[in-house]
Amino acid sequence: MPCEGTQSVGMRCFRSFLWAAAVAAIYAGCSGRGPAGHGGVALSFDDRFIAEWYALRPLFKEFGARVTFYINGDTLTAGEISMLKSLQEDGHEIGFHGTIHGDAGQLLRHHGVDGYLSTEIWPGLNYLRGLGFDPVSYAHPGGTSTATTDSALLANGFLTLREVSKAERYFRGMRLYHLPPARMPHIYYDFDGRKSFYSLQIDRETSLSVEEMAAALEKAGADGKVLMLFGHQPLPANPSPDQYGFEIAFLRHILEESRKRGLKFYTMSELALP
Ligand SMILES: [Zn+2]
Repeated sequence: MPCEGTQSVGMRCFRSFLWAAAVAAIYAGCSGRGPAGHGGVALSFDDRFIAEWYALRPLFKEFGARVTFYINGDTLTAGEISMLKSLQEDGHEIGFHGTIHGDAGQLLRHHGVDGYLSTEIWPGLNYLRGLGFDPVSYAHPGGTSTATTDSALLANGFLTLREVSKAERYFRGMRLYHLPPARMPHIYYDFDGRKSFYSLQIDRETSLSVEEMAAALEKAGADGKVLMLFGHQPLPANPSPDQYGFEIAFLRHILEESRKRGLKFYTMSELALP
C-alpha cells in the first residue's frame, strides 16, 4: 500500500527505508557471483486477481514464463478454482498469502504464535489443501514478517517466504527515496540456501522505468543471479489513477528483456531446490 497517512505509517516507511538501506549495505559487501548459467527472474503476483492473471496465460506461454501466484483468503469461486488449476497445469506455482491478510506483528503481539497460525495460516492453507493445492511458498501480507513468523512458517512446512522491497516510497506526498533496482542487491537470489527473500514490487506506484528494469535484468544475467519481482493487478494501458497494479505492457517489457538475455524463469519454490 502507498506510504501515506498516519504518523505510525510514516514511521513504518522510515523504518522500512532504514531497513532497505541496511540490507543493501550488508549485501553490497558480499556480491559473489552465483553458479554460471543460473541467471534468471522469479515473477510472482499477490492477492485475488485470478481472472486477470488467467488472461495473461497467452503472454506467459509466448515467453515460456512460469511464475508464482500467491492466493489469500479461504473462499474461491468454482471458476477461480478451475482457473488456478489450469495455471498450475501450465507449470505455474500456487503459493499462499494468508487468510485474513493481516499484520503479522500485530497478530503476534495480541494473539501469540498459536493465534497467528490459527488466524492467518491454517484456515486458508487448509482450504487450499482441501482443493488439491499444496502451497509451499508464502508471501507475507503487506510484507509484515518477524523472525518468529518466519521460524513458525518454516517449521510448519513452508519452503520459501517472500518479503516486500520497494524501489520508491512516499510519505505525505513527499518522495522519501528512489533506488535503481540494479543497485538493490537484496532483490537478487544467489543460490546461497536462504529461504526468505526480498522481492521488488513492480506496481505503478514505485515508478520503475523500462530502462531501470532492463539494467536490473542485465545484472541478473551478468552475475548469474535471480531477480525477484512481484505485482498485483494486471492493468491495461492508461489505467485510472486509483487502480493498484502494473501495466501489462510493463510486464511484457520485462519478459522481452529477460528472453533477450537468455534468463531462466523460476517459480519461488524452485529457488529453494538444491
Ligand atoms: Zn497482498
